[in-house]
Amino acid sequence: MTERLFLADSSVLRFKARVVSRRPGAVVLDRTAFYATSGGQPHDTGTLGGVRVTGVEAEGENVVHAVDGEVPEGEIEGVVDGGRRRDHLEQHHGQHLLSRAFIESCGAETVSFHLGPESSTIDLDVRDLTAGEADRAEDLANLVVRENRPVEVTWHTLDEAKTLGLRKLPDGIDRVRVVTVRDFDRCACGGTHPSRTGDISQIRILGWEKSKGKVRLTFVCGGRALRDARERARVLEAAGAALGTGALEAAAAAGRAREDLRAANRELGVLRERAAAGESAELLAKAQPAGKARLVRASFPGRDVPALLVLTKSLSEFPDAVFVLTGKGALVAGCGAAVALDPGAAFKEAALAAGVRGGGRGRLYQGAGGVDAAALEAAADAMSRRLAAEVSR
Ligand SMILES: [Zn+2]
Repeated sequence: MTERLFLADSSVLRFKARVVSRRPGAVVLDRTAFYATSGGQPHDTGTLGGVRVTGVEAEGENVVHAVDGEVPEGEIEGVVDGGRRRDHLEQHHGQHLLSRAFIESCGAETVSFHLGPESSTIDLDVRDLTAGEADRAEDLANLVVRENRPVEVTWHTLDEAKTLGLRKLPDGIDRVRVVTVRDFDRCACGGTHPSRTGDISQIRILGWEKSKGKVRLTFVCGGRALRDARERARVLEAAGAALGTGALEAAAAAGRAREDLRAANRELGVLRERAAAGESAELLAKAQPAGKARLVRASFPGRDVPALLVLTKSLSEFPDAVFVLTGKGALVAGCGAAVALDPGAAFKEAALAAGVRGGGRGRLYQGAGGVDAAALEAAADAMSRRLAAEVSR
């Protein structure tokens, strides 16, 4: 059985221990300060006898350390990575405080916890959550942090533990470890905790979403809360600068900019249609006659499919127009209502030759993705000749 040193004192990061058993890549000690993955909290990392610890798992009463080298026999020194431990402790204990705060502020019980690399989540046993409820819970949890209340660890028999009003009791053990935040929260837990709530420094709710009849709430604590606040402030600052305003005015300025852009796009649409009508008339004036139709074959190397479609919409309104247009890797072809022609087969042939993907129906066909400009132009010319022959029959 491995004695778990963090159960008595989570601040122990350096310890001496005896190697009990070894197998390639794994070591069991008589005692360890390494926390094994459990309860939604990932394992600690660090070194054993100078060899890196890459994973820690409980195996029955033993703690198995996964190592990436050979740990010497006998007595060795273990060193837990203090930065990672502190981060995990902050998220884990912060979760205790936040979960209790949700019970106090709106009766929402926590049913699960996950500690992620960037942020953590709890699932609350409620269908929905209001911003007011979230704010009240966040305020209460942070008040308890600022009050710097003592956090005590005590051990009890199962019968004693049943009298303590704990929310959940673990099965199959006869001694229960109870973590108590004075006059606020008490629960059975084998995790890493500080000796005072002030160590958490801050708890921030980042957001929540409804998930499978519950609410999944994302939060960060301690150093993560500081970094998150700093990052968000910088993003807002940059957004404000980009919009020519201060950070706190950025949202309103972005809303106005979006409205302005919508209006400008509407205006642009009208102008494009007007320009396309003029361009169509010019193209048709120079078009080559083909039977009763007029054939337009033109290249616009800078235009993509949407830009070409503005022009074809206008060209299609001339009943006798037949057109084959190329753009930036794009091919568009069609005809007006009075022309007895389905350009589908010719388009398919040209698209295949030019490496263009697309299709169409009735009178208009379009495609994009051509990478060889010369092949595209040659295919469009060939298509144009084929359509000219078809309408002249
Ligand atoms: Zn805990």
